[in-house]
Amino acid sequence: MPMYDFQCESCQLSFTLKLSFAEYEQGNFTCPSCKSSNVRRVISHVNVRTSRKS
Ligand SMILES: [Zn+2]
Repeated sequence: MPMYDFQCESCQLSFTLKLSFAEYEQGNFTCPSCKSSNVRRVISHVNVRTSRKS
């Protein structure tokens, strides 16, 4: 399941959610700290790990 990084616009908390594509499509994300829905997607440039090859 893909991980998505978000930042809360209300309390500035950065958090990561594990969402299915369907959940992501619904777009109703809430901050785990203040429960605000005023969150935005953060695109990480340094911590992208899409493939696991061990
Ligand atoms: Zn918050």
